[in-house]
Amino acid sequence: MIRKTQALWAAVLLAALLTLPALAADKLPCVVVLATGGTIAGAAGSDVQAAYTSGQVGVEQLLAAVPQAKKLAALRGEQISNIRSQDMNDEVWLKLARRINQLAAMPDVDGIVITHGTDTIEETAYFLNLVVKSRKPVVMTAAMRPATALSADGPLNFFNAVGVAADTRAAGRGVLVVVNDWIHGAGSLTKTSTTAVQTFLSPQSGLIGTVAYGKAEFYRGPIGRSTADSEFTLDGVTALPRVDIVMAHENMDGALIDAAAAAGAKGIVIAGVGNGNLTEAAVKALAAQASKGVVCVRASRVITGRVSRNVELDDDKLGFIAASDKSPQEARVLLRLALLKNRPLADVQRIFNEY
Ligand code: ASP
Repeated sequence: MIRKTQALWAAVLLAALLTLPALAADKLPCVVVLATGGTIAGAAGSDVQAAYTSGQVGVEQLLAAVPQAKKLAALRGEQISNIRSQDMNDEVWLKLARRINQLAAMPDVDGIVITHGTDTIEETAYFLNLVVKSRKPVVMTAAMRPATALSADGPLNFFNAVGVAADTRAAGRGVLVVVNDWIHGAGSLTKTSTTAVQTFLSPQSGLIGTVAYGKAEFYRGPIGRSTADSEFTLDGVTALPRVDIVMAHENMDGALIDAAAAAGAKGIVIAGVGNGNLTEAAVKALAAQASKGVVCVRASRVITGRVSRNVELDDDKLGFIAASDKSPQEARVLLRLALLKNRPLADVQRIFNEY
């Protein structure tokens, strides 16, 4: 009798042990959705109207609109802000970055999706790429058409972003941006069309991967230091230093460079012509600001290529930094973080080379 009972318990235990891995395999990854606004949460008066308002739909509505995503991950949402991304600001950035770092540190969170407007997604992605301290997937997504539009692109973009965030292979590739079936790296994407659904390209370094109906393919890792490998931290940071971008053009003078410094800019990024060039008058004004301690970076308004030191301008003599492969808007984000500490110019240049 005792033998029979023991055998029965042993069988029950064995069955339980055998089903454990199956149960674990069935458990969906946990993905937290942080909504910030943008056209993906936008609404128009009709489904064929060009005029619309960004940031109208809340995170719960966004989740409810794509019930299919629940098959990819256990989802929960939080509203960080509900703004048009042209209104993105430091307060939201700091709140968002801190919340991502908290969530990413939780053992039960496997990935994070951030919904955002397309106008400034490349800046927010690059900022997060520098201050998020985790290798877990952090995936941003957006839409060009409001949620109410005919053929809205938001729902599939969102579904794909959840698929990527739930995929362990997305880990360690830096902050990703998933739009229109493509997976971009935070440091490589740029918006190329004001209205087309296929607006984002990674024209210099190519895609990180592609995603079709939630299933991803990955081609490469991040370029430059990012996330867990980044030296930048927001610990104790309550404000970011002001850095302005000034665009170079024919017949440029130094007025806007001087105005930026007068407005309190600690750094100035030039969206230069060609290889980060600017007129002689503007060079003079910039060098004068550099000699007063404003950190001056030469980037380019050209979409691909690098800006290297000492090509047509003598950066060593003029006291300038060359932006390397950073666009003016990326250079601004990187410089703001670099200027959180007092550094010699050589160290600022190292940062532009390494990130
Ligand atoms: N202006 C909108 C925004 O960035 C555009 C979009 O999301 O597509 O919020």
